[in-house]
Amino acid sequence: MTAQLTHNSQLISLVIPCHNEAGNIEPLYLAIKEVLTHRLEPFEIIFVDDGSSDGTPSMLRELAGIDERVHVIELVRNFGKEIAITAGLNHASGTAAICLDADLQHPPALIPELLARWREGAEVVVGVRQTGRKHAPLLKRMGSGLFYKLMNAVTDVKIVAHATDYRLIDRVVIDEFNRFTEHNRITRGLIDWIGFRRAYVEFTPARRYAGEAAYSYIKLISLALNSFVSMSLFPLRAAGYLGLIIMLTSGPLGLFILIEKYLMHDPWHLNISGPAILAVIILFMVGIILVSLGLMALYVATIHTEVLNRPLYIARREGGRRPLYGHVVTAGTEKRKAIHA
Ligand code: UDP
Ligand code: MG
Repeated sequence: MTAQLTHNSQLISLVIPCHNEAGNIEPLYLAIKEVLTHRLEPFEIIFVDDGSSDGTPSMLRELAGIDERVHVIELVRNFGKEIAITAGLNHASGTAAICLDADLQHPPALIPELLARWREGAEVVVGVRQTGRKHAPLLKRMGSGLFYKLMNAVTDVKIVAHATDYRLIDRVVIDEFNRFTEHNRITRGLIDWIGFRRAYVEFTPARRYAGEAAYSYIKLISLALNSFVSMSLFPLRAAGYLGLIIMLTSGPLGLFILIEKYLMHDPWHLNISGPAILAVIILFMVGIILVSLGLMALYVATIHTEVLNRPLYIARREGGRRPLYGHVVTAGTEKRKAIHA
């Protein structure tokens, strides 16, 4: 793994996916600079232009020309935020990376706190949106509440409600993340799956600085569905469970009718009608079909997990955590120069 060998032992990488964010780039850049220039650790900003159709790419290029700490990855078309973040993390060379949105909803002022938690030993520091998102419409809030309930019910990975993509991840986690090859991915879900020591930092999201959120309700629903499918096999098995329930109720009912009406000649005078009997038989058949589907789903589930080809387990490397990146002792401009030489 070359990334491991070449990464810079002090550098913090900021990974920022941008899709039509022309109005936000400059304020974001200035805000980050303001927060980070007084700090000891050097930083790089990796902007990933996710197929923007406005002035975003040219602005980013201009910025990269002015500031050597700015790097730009231009995707040739819009691949979606998850892929854009992945591209950024693939190219991050820091000892830790911080992912944040370009629209200033993830306040750069929180960065020192993320770094502090990381210094204390957390390998994943997750920004958790404080509940009562006043800016978001009610429907969106209710939707996200339902999403987390369902998600926690059906997946093995513990998912903290309102955890966002605003998070710091240590180099050890970046290296593991970079090994994943699955296409249909939810970045934060994967990071949760990977594990490692985590800490949570609460923040209140700001209003989007400029432009409109690119995620429409339809896109959000498809994102939620994607999360379910990529993080859980439950939806696949659901048909089978439903079939089992149907079979287990209609089966005994059918048996009861058979015995009561035809063997005992209706001692209770229930007078069960022909259509009712037919309904029970059909219901039982539907149950059989669903159970068969469920069985097939078990095979599909196996194929699914094999195709994802995730690592079987992730172990800590020898000697525990990283080789003591420790605290940065010198701010030195020489050091900063060396990094960008
Ligand atoms: N984004 C992206 N590709 C897309 C859509 C969005 O890279 O196809 C970026 C966008 O530029 C922003 C972040 O993802 O930095 C979050 O997007 P947005 O603000 O639209 O979503 P929300 O705030 O609703 O999560
Ligand atoms: Mg936003």
